[in-house]
Amino acid sequence: MQLRSRKDMIHELLKRVFGYDTFRPQQEEIIRHLLSGGDAMVLMPTGGGKSICYQLPALALPGVTVVVSPLISLMKDQVEALRANGVHAAALNSMNSEEENLLVRRECDQGTLKLLYVSPERLLTELPYLIHDLRISLFAIDEAHCISQWGHDFRPEYTQLGVLREMFPNIPIVALTATADKVTRQDILEQLHLNGARMFISSFDRPNLSLDVKRGLGAREKQRVILDFIGRHQNDCGIIYCLSRKNTEALATYLSGHGITVAVYHAGLTAEERDRAQEDFVNDRVQVVCATVAFGMGINKSNVRFVIHYNLPKSIENFYQEIGRAGRDGLPSDTLLFYNLQDIVQLSHFAQDSGQAAINKERLDRMREYAEADVCRRRILLNYFGEQASQDCGNCDVCQHPPQRFDGTVLVQKALSAIYRTGQKATLRVVADILHGNFSADVKGHQYDRLPTFAVGRDVPLRDWNDYLLQMIQLGFLEIAYDESNHLHITPQGGDVLYGRSRAQLAVIRREDMTPSVQSRSRKEVVPVIDFSEEIGTSTGTESRELFERLRRLRMRLAQEQGFPPYIILSDKVLHALATLRPTTVEQFGNVSGIGEFKRQKYGRVFVDEIKDYLS
Ligand code: ADP
Ligand code: ZN
Repeated sequence: MQLRSRKDMIHELLKRVFGYDTFRPQQEEIIRHLLSGGDAMVLMPTGGGKSICYQLPALALPGVTVVVSPLISLMKDQVEALRANGVHAAALNSMNSEEENLLVRRECDQGTLKLLYVSPERLLTELPYLIHDLRISLFAIDEAHCISQWGHDFRPEYTQLGVLREMFPNIPIVALTATADKVTRQDILEQLHLNGARMFISSFDRPNLSLDVKRGLGAREKQRVILDFIGRHQNDCGIIYCLSRKNTEALATYLSGHGITVAVYHAGLTAEERDRAQEDFVNDRVQVVCATVAFGMGINKSNVRFVIHYNLPKSIENFYQEIGRAGRDGLPSDTLLFYNLQDIVQLSHFAQDSGQAAINKERLDRMREYAEADVCRRRILLNYFGEQASQDCGNCDVCQHPPQRFDGTVLVQKALSAIYRTGQKATLRVVADILHGNFSADVKGHQYDRLPTFAVGRDVPLRDWNDYLLQMIQLGFLEIAYDESNHLHITPQGGDVLYGRSRAQLAVIRREDMTPSVQSRSRKEVVPVIDFSEEIGTSTGTESRELFERLRRLRMRLAQEQGFPPYIILSDKVLHALATLRPTTVEQFGNVSGIGEFKRQKYGRVFVDEIKDYLS
């Protein structure tokens, strides 16, 4: 009986406060476990829905839930999102003024606060004072991998959080992270003294993210592909990750020259400049951020519609976390990864010099295998995180364009004999020049133009030679001598092809997506198809693009008036639902998924008026 009423209560809260009808997988189990007083460790991918796992218990239990969070921007985002749903939440941190902090303290004293966000260092200094006097319902340690040196965002202050378990023996603790690897997991449990905690591991699949890889393109080609890609995402925000500061700036200059609003974000900027870039992006004032990997941990923006990797990331963990920033609202979002030989050379050197050469090289190899794969990419990713997918995803480039092969024995022989004639002392770029017959400075300098193999492959475009040579490396016919100026060496397996003892299959190069094609241009018109059938009992209908744009403008205006990012007011998903379902009463508006009671009262009227205006 009691269990039943508790079940009703958490569903009621989910609907009333957050506006959702159903829990995502695991959320309900986690919440019930915490409500029954147990400790938990929650592993969910970015965008999986971790926050509700502690926010809902915070609302259901008497007292205040203390959330430890590593970044002020994360706290700010969470507090804003909670307040936008009418929940009493606040953050205690060094960015607040004295008055603000006083106010928070007063709210704590009065017992009105439901969630208190604090940085780990603040928590520790406040333990004997503020925290001691609070009636605490739950501790949530967000981004818990920060406690581990094995994780990628180690924060020394986190290591002292182990005292909580002993100091508050009767208060449940939940640690949450999107980092999957086992060593980090174990480390988190040990350091937080959560020996009895129950583990909740969600699927790492993010089926709404498309996966695409393009190999072997030079800077110019990448720029063109990116421009075309953004052209297909005209009103959508996205992040482009680059390996170097220089790349971020060059790309930003190129894109803004083509009328795209861009911000740059890297460690060479001042803190103010970085904050401004982040704020502009979060508030939809710029469409694109060109950033180094320093950007993103503090980004909870739910309507990031694409993530592009201008260079290969150094590990699958990094890659997955970065693409995970797209599509948190669950709507279809696109990701695109470029990789070429320069990336591999550079990252290999980084790995070599990293102080953990063996581990980091292994990580890079796995990343590279992903980029080079010719089987469903999502299966590789899930496999990496210890999950087995039972079928191909249909939403990656390999699934959509399965590679076609041809007998490339003669091409391989031409390439290998050119390499052989250089005394195996030329880099990939130079070998491609020789094969195509390009009189580059390196070719002339070494008199390679006198070799009998010079220009034997002039019928194959230079960039295709680059691609074929990369394939030959993948196939194991060639290897890069990283310790000998990255020269290409022939492997025994390559020797077999060169001397006619075995044949070689190469993949046909797809070029249709390097230039704007009819197919890609028409995608501009595509509106995501979302199933709203459960939502207000009406049939699904189709979305009105015009209405969506009107609602988006209305949202932007409200956001500016209220000083919130647009996605905090209403998510993209809610806007799509409104443009599809077109509710004409405040009550119908309130039935749309993602709109709780507070938002219904606050925004119902203006949105319904806008919709009615459109319909008349
Ligand atoms: P994480 O912290 O795991 O990266 P969030 O907690 O920010 O993810 O949730 C990601 C998005 O999913 C948010 O927009 C959130 O409102 C939404 N969400 C969470 N739970 C649900 C649910 N049960 N139904 C629908 N949307 C949800
Ligand atoms: Zn696939």
